[in-house]
Amino acid sequence: MNTNLVWFRNDLRIRNNLALYYACKDSKSTVLALFISVPEQWKKNFISPRKTYLIYKNVVYLKKELMKLNIFLHYYESTTFIKSINYLVKFCKKNKVNKLYFNYEYEYLEKKRDIIAIQRIKNNFISSYGFHNSTLIQPGLITNQHGKMYKKYNCFKKKCIILLKNFSHTNFMPKKRNTLVKQSDFQISFFNFPIKKIYEQLFPIGEVKILRQLKLFFKKKIYDYDVNHNYFALDNTSMISAHLSIGVLSPLQCFSFFLKYHSNASKCSIEKCHWINELIWREFFKHLLYFYPNLSKQSIFCNWEQNIKWKNNLKYLNAWKHGKTGFPIIDAGMRQLKKLGWMHNRLRMITSSFLVKNLLIDWRKGEKYFMSQLIDGDLALNNGNWKWIASIGSNSMPYFRIFNPILQSKKFDKMGIFIKKYVTELKNIPSNIIHNPDLWNKHIREIIDYPNPIINLIDSKKTVLKIFKHAKKF
Ligand code: FAD
Repeated sequence: MNTNLVWFRNDLRIRNNLALYYACKDSKSTVLALFISVPEQWKKNFISPRKTYLIYKNVVYLKKELMKLNIFLHYYESTTFIKSINYLVKFCKKNKVNKLYFNYEYEYLEKKRDIIAIQRIKNNFISSYGFHNSTLIQPGLITNQHGKMYKKYNCFKKKCIILLKNFSHTNFMPKKRNTLVKQSDFQISFFNFPIKKIYEQLFPIGEVKILRQLKLFFKKKIYDYDVNHNYFALDNTSMISAHLSIGVLSPLQCFSFFLKYHSNASKCSIEKCHWINELIWREFFKHLLYFYPNLSKQSIFCNWEQNIKWKNNLKYLNAWKHGKTGFPIIDAGMRQLKKLGWMHNRLRMITSSFLVKNLLIDWRKGEKYFMSQLIDGDLALNNGNWKWIASIGSNSMPYFRIFNPILQSKKFDKMGIFIKKYVTELKNIPSNIIHNPDLWNKHIREIIDYPNPIINLIDSKKTVLKIFKHAKKF
């Protein structure tokens, strides 16, 4: 009789978990589960306290759910990825594991960990089985005719959609074991990491609640998503990114929901659905990381980037981080990030563009700060988007495209509702002038405690254009 071990990492779910499903396929095998936390590693990787807390809560939840399948989740707190391998091997030997099941991760250090782990496992005569389960399509299957990753998003998207059209849904529900192999029980205590509580009404715990949230999104919000998803105050997006980032939800589950609840009801095609387009952006960045794991190290993608002379003014960087730039929409976005650990996508675009293309601060500093705050921090998506904004990544926008925070604010928060929610000092400023601090008279300035704009938008834009143009020509 085999003893199979499922090594849980970034896949904290039961449904649509290929590693768990295949480990349970043979009803006679004993199935064990293991999660190893690595707080020191997470600190080094700038993982935010909120994301870590979400992981903790979901590991506790997963343990209870696995118990219903008669599978015991073992837990161990290690320090780094490399050290966690020692425990994994020890665990396998102690429990006479024959087969190890896990889902792949594509980040540089995670890949390195897996290569070493698999070798050591093999040395102990244990077979290992890895599965691609964090993307819609297995990385490596969407390539150009030379087998290379597409650098243009549209080509990637086209091929991705062709493959998605052949998708047939399977739930991949693991088989329940006949009996629970009793183990000495222990409590999973919170990891050695600073605690920052999360808003559970926004980020519910456990896959059942998140599936319910996704269903609600499909029933109520997706119809207006194309029109409304850019309006910050409307709360019209799915809010699933945090769960995707730790694998409580899989992208294939999202796609199945789309097929079940949306495409049939509204006849909305895969090509035309804006929400699916966003999921394919996620896919694009994940596949990029699979092909270029060095992206994890904040490395350069376009050579001309090294010619950019960043100013890296620390005072500006701190003003940006703390939402005190004097530009209401930037400050509202940055304060939302601080308060919730989450920021609306358009605001992420506006605030990141402001950092890179108005303040001339190296995108790496912004990327790191976002990661340290985001509950949905995901290396592939964060890095991909920062590079896109900075115009130095794959399929980036042209360097001369710079978001104007005042115009964006007027367009997507016309009445200033979002600004007033997060920058409460401005609650009495009339909506027609709230977006542009240059329109505030002396009297307004005297009665509010709010900084003057730290830069002039027109001058800073001119400077950046000159510097980027020069860097590209060099
Ligand atoms: P919805 O609008 O409902 O979209 C559904 C899903 O599509 C999202 O959950 C996400 O998985 C994917 N998606 C949406 N927008 C994008 C995008 N621009 N790029 C790639 N995938 C997308 N997202 C993260 O999950 N983690 C990050 O660390 C992250 N960093 C970002 C940094 C910057 C500078 C920018 C501009 C965007 C970043 N995003 C990141 C993408 C995006 O902002 C979030 O995924 C989105 O706001 C999450 O909210 P939602 O789940 O309600 O999204």
